[in-house]
Amino acid sequence: MTKVIIVGGNYAGCIAAKKLAKKGHEIVIVSPFDSSFASPLLPRLLTEPELIEGNYNNKYTSIFAGLNVKHVKALVTELDPDAKVLTLSTGETLDYEHLVIATGTSHGELFKPSSSGAMDSNVSLIKSTAEKIKSNKNIAVIGGGPTGVEVSGDIAHHYPDKSVDLYTGSGNPLPTLPLKKQLQAVSMLEKKGVKVIKKNAEISGNTVDGKSYDLVLTTFGVKPNSGFIPKKLLNSEGYLKVSEDLTVPGYTNILGFGDITDTSNNTLVAIILGQTKTLEKSAEKYFEGKSVNPPPYKNPKGASMFVPVGKDGGVGIVFGWSIPSFLVKIVKAKDYMISHMANYYDQF
Ligand SMILES: Cc1cc2nc3c(=O)[nH]c(=O)nc-3n(C[C@H](O)[C@H](O)[C@H](O)COP(=O)(O)OP(=O)(O)OC[C@H]3O[C@@H](n4cnc5c(N)ncnc54)[C@H](O)[C@@H]3O)c2cc1C
Repeated sequence: MTKVIIVGGNYAGCIAAKKLAKKGHEIVIVSPFDSSFASPLLPRLLTEPELIEGNYNNKYTSIFAGLNVKHVKALVTELDPDAKVLTLSTGETLDYEHLVIATGTSHGELFKPSSSGAMDSNVSLIKSTAEKIKSNKNIAVIGGGPTGVEVSGDIAHHYPDKSVDLYTGSGNPLPTLPLKKQLQAVSMLEKKGVKVIKKNAEISGNTVDGKSYDLVLTTFGVKPNSGFIPKKLLNSEGYLKVSEDLTVPGYTNILGFGDITDTSNNTLVAIILGQTKTLEKSAEKYFEGKSVNPPPYKNPKGASMFVPVGKDGGVGIVFGWSIPSFLVKIVKAKDYMISHMANYYDQF
């Protein structure tokens, strides 16, 4: 049995822990929290906060029940890949033989819990923001990515009497999708009463480009959680460099997994469809010494995104193929698949 230390305990960390524990590895997962959290639900939780309970967090004790997974509650503050030692926020050190780095990204305090904070304060922030959305009239949402579109669309759907302005930077919303899909997003948002403003807005407190709002929600600003990793292992944007078998160049005893890697397009879809098989096979090859060829990691071909605009539809594309709005409604917009969340990790 090989001992594997996994740093980070959300989607990538939990999937890796389950997959590798089921292969007979002894797993130690280092995470500052006792549970995972489901960021993709956030746009709906801001308008229906009563859904947080039982859906947003999954306790590790339940995810890893019956498996050989031990949780160390801490942040890793330093990695020495040559000495094979991790330093923890508790002051302790952990020696490792095999390591998986799955520390993902930060996304403000609202859209992902701050690693240095507590999960409870993230949940409180979601609830208090939902309360502010409910009680205020003029709301600005900043950022034209999927989160900005979903948040503004959901607010407009739930509260048609509010004034919602979405600032999308210099171009259309959903800039990584084909133009037709970008324009579909604009049209659907406008039908809900959202004003789409294509401008790089200047934000100062609750004032955006000189216009005063009751509430400003910022949805951009994703940063890799890599402060503990030596710079030589990072690309210029701070993401962990990995080879196509997910090993860190020069260190085959270290695998990168999830959003932290420089090859990921920062989606759960990429983790599940693009990286998981490679992680499993690379662990067999490099951690167990088996003679296998890990399949090279590939981001799924073509864009795949379901972006609800309110509860009755949205913009959809799967592997580059356009998906009609009514299917986006059935698959995601109606309930954000929230009913599957309590048992989400059972599939791995
Ligand atoms: C609002 C929103 C909506 C989204 N919607 C979708 C969607 O519809 N579809 C989709 O495919 N994807 C979506 N995503 C993206 C998806 O959430 C990410 O791809 C996924 O969370 C990545 O998982 P991860 O485990 O790699 O990283 P993260 O989820 O970022 O988790 C990293 C974990 O590592 C911990 N950590 C960080 N630093 C340290 C450290 N030094 N020591 C120990 N632990 C550490 C963090 O606290 C965290 O628990 C969405 C993201 C957001 C924010």
